[in-house]
Amino acid sequence: MSMTSAEIRDAFLNYFKDKGHQIVPSSSLIPGNDPTLLFTNAGMVQFKDVFLGSDKRAYTRATSSQRCVRAGGKHNDLENVGYTARHHTFFEMLGNFSFGDYFKEGAIQYAWEFLTQVVKLPAEKLWVTVYETDDEAYDIWAKEVGVPTDRIIRIGDNKGAPYASDNFWSMGDTGPCGPCTEIFYDHGEHIWGGPPGSPEEDGDRYIEIWNIVFMQFNRHGDGRMEPLPKPSVDTGMGLERISAILQHVHSNYEIDIFQHLIKAAAKAIGSEDLENKSLRVVADHIRSCSFLVVDGVMPSNEGRGYVLRRIVRRAVRHGAQLGASEPFFYKLVAALIDVMGDAYPELKEKQAIIEKALLMEEEQFRKTLERGLKLLDEALADIQGSVIPGDVVFKLYDTYGFPVDLTNDVARERGLTLDEAGFETAMEAQRQRAKQASNFGADYNSRLDIDCQTQFSGYDGVRDVSPVVALFKG
Ligand code: ATP
Ligand code: MG
Ligand code: MG
Ligand code: MG
Repeated sequence: MSMTSAEIRDAFLNYFKDKGHQIVPSSSLIPGNDPTLLFTNAGMVQFKDVFLGSDKRAYTRATSSQRCVRAGGKHNDLENVGYTARHHTFFEMLGNFSFGDYFKEGAIQYAWEFLTQVVKLPAEKLWVTVYETDDEAYDIWAKEVGVPTDRIIRIGDNKGAPYASDNFWSMGDTGPCGPCTEIFYDHGEHIWGGPPGSPEEDGDRYIEIWNIVFMQFNRHGDGRMEPLPKPSVDTGMGLERISAILQHVHSNYEIDIFQHLIKAAAKAIGSEDLENKSLRVVADHIRSCSFLVVDGVMPSNEGRGYVLRRIVRRAVRHGAQLGASEPFFYKLVAALIDVMGDAYPELKEKQAIIEKALLMEEEQFRKTLERGLKLLDEALADIQGSVIPGDVVFKLYDTYGFPVDLTNDVARERGLTLDEAGFETAMEAQRQRAKQASNFGADYNSRLDIDCQTQFSGYDGVRDVSPVVALFKG
């Protein structure tokens, strides 16, 4: 019998506990006091101030299984869901942290021991990358751990890109960052893809499982890199990715948690085809949507609430595509509780609130979904070439409530793209019209912003501001 995801989570936390780490519970998806970040996107987020030296803890070693959402901001994987074997909007990041305690040597040794001794991965399937100039990390891998040098790859900055890339990790535009070393698993030559750094690295054969970041700098808004008070360690391993390996499957969507959700989705929708991409999307989205509501986000037209709305609507559209004839999405909350309720009791506690929020959003969107899709089909019958005109995208958005990424999702399935500049122009024209027509002027708009902001930070934010937003929009 292979290990369940729950057992893997426990094995990880207990391994690091035995190595003197304090087990720290996952924090909320809404970063406590960090306005620069849309959602918690890594295990280190709740420790940001500890790395910076402005917060002190009773421990210098910690471990956690952190719930993360990557559906906006610097780390955005929404567009990857359904297309890769390894990306989710919501996932759990297993991590160990050193606050000025052990550094490169300790972090690498622990990771290697956990993978090869505790969960017993075959060493010959593991590849590692190090930051281009990090000879210290390179030598630890090559000389102390004994990884053959043809499986150690140096990777540098993505020159010219706004962020230094792969082997220099940063949480966002500002904050703690540093060079990293990553561990990849080779799923075998029957899967397309090449090792990291090769032209085929985007394939799903070599899957990144663990990132070990050597936290050394605080990046400021002006780009200045200030050294941190103490060199520290932050690591992150995707629970779903390590589960896939240990459950002898390739895709994350084949692991225990997802199989249960996919079956529940098929049943709720009335679909037979368990391999369908849309079912995977729905199974992914129920996790991010449920946990966002748990953490106080409600569907709305602004900020975090709009990200949630976009994800729900995407799920609803995929369900419709599979033939769902009535609301189905909220029914999956119970299935999620089956597989994650033990680790996250708050899911069960807030079950009724989550179901109600998702049902309301689905009912509201279903009213316009069908007509919107019809409009889109008509427009597509007319278009020349492969670009959906901006005014169609705008009408879908404005009249039928189609978030642009949802229209893009449909377009991509049909090999089409969107005229984004045309959409922006239509949007701007509408803003101008709204300004001229408004008796209230800018003050009300800014008040509306503030209203929504207040709601984002609320943990018991069961208030739906969308009617208020709609009022001002109208
Ligand atoms: P990738 O290159 O595959 O997109 P990443 O480099 O963006 O991953 P990191 O920021 O290094 O990921 O995060 C640490 C770990 O978290 C990754 O090694 C991976 O195991 C996991 N992880 C990252 N993004 C996702 C995601 N969208 N879904 C599931 N697991 C993820
Ligand atoms: Mg990524
Ligand atoms: Mg990566
Ligand atoms: Mg990475």
